[in-house]
Amino acid sequence: MKKRYQTFGCILLAILAMFVICTVVSVSFDKSSKKQKSKLIVTSFYPMYVATSNIVDGADVELKNLSEPKTGCLHDFQLTTQDMKLISTSDIFVANGAGMESFLEDIVKEYKNVSIIDSSKGINLLKEEDEENSHIWMGTKTYRQQVKNIAKQLSKDDPDNAKIYMKNAKLYDEKLKKLQKQEKELSSKLTSKNIIIFHEAFAYLAEDLDLDVKYVLDLDEERQVSAGEIADVLSQVKKNKIEYILAEKQYAKSVGDAIERESNVKVIYIDPLNRGKYDKNSYLDGMKKNLDKIEKEITNKQN
Ligand SMILES: [Zn+2]
Repeated sequence: MKKRYQTFGCILLAILAMFVICTVVSVSFDKSSKKQKSKLIVTSFYPMYVATSNIVDGADVELKNLSEPKTGCLHDFQLTTQDMKLISTSDIFVANGAGMESFLEDIVKEYKNVSIIDSSKGINLLKEEDEENSHIWMGTKTYRQQVKNIAKQLSKDDPDNAKIYMKNAKLYDEKLKKLQKQEKELSSKLTSKNIIIFHEAFAYLAEDLDLDVKYVLDLDEERQVSAGEIADVLSQVKKNKIEYILAEKQYAKSVGDAIERESNVKVIYIDPLNRGKYDKNSYLDGMKKNLDKIEKEITNKQN
């Protein structure tokens, strides 16, 4: 009888021990899964996605882009309910700033738990007819500042990954510095300093190339261009002895052809780097391609 009680006691003890072990294990599992919950970072549009994807490379975070990779500039962008849902579930929202995201103020007000990163912080904005030009990614100098701003703020908001962010940003900046060097070299080869651009975005590249933008015809969407506008461009060409125009092929080809027919100007088609594939190197490759193209066209024309 005594023995039976002893066996029973042993079993009870064993069950109790198992229970204790299970609880400890499940609590520690709980803790580790909590720690493993990675941050959700949402970027506003393509250039911000590309910049951030370089910075967070290798970190345990989730990166999503609000707009489609082919959206381009966010000038007329309207948030859908789905977009708002995505932002509300994010931990960090990376914006270009400087007015590119017209909905930014609403987000700040509406989603207090989302940390907003404004990549334009401290950047000197160019002005176009009293309006600030928000296309800051389109010059290597300003883009480098954006990358630094994003990395710095991300490190504050997600200190667990700060080391990775800062290291990645430094590596990326080294590559961007090389691009800026190429800009400087190209700039020294440009004999004519006056230029016309067909998208505000190119003003930042022109600034890096030390060019003087004499006239802007903003063609960053499909639209009709009036005969008056073409006449304006032609008169500016004449007045400022313009030799080159920087334009985006998608929206400016027909206007570009008309201008070339009527004048001696060469229209150089380059990429505003505001849409494309989700590829980490797309900015580096795209900007290099732009600089190579400009160099090729001016050499052709000078010869
Ligand atoms: Zn634009």
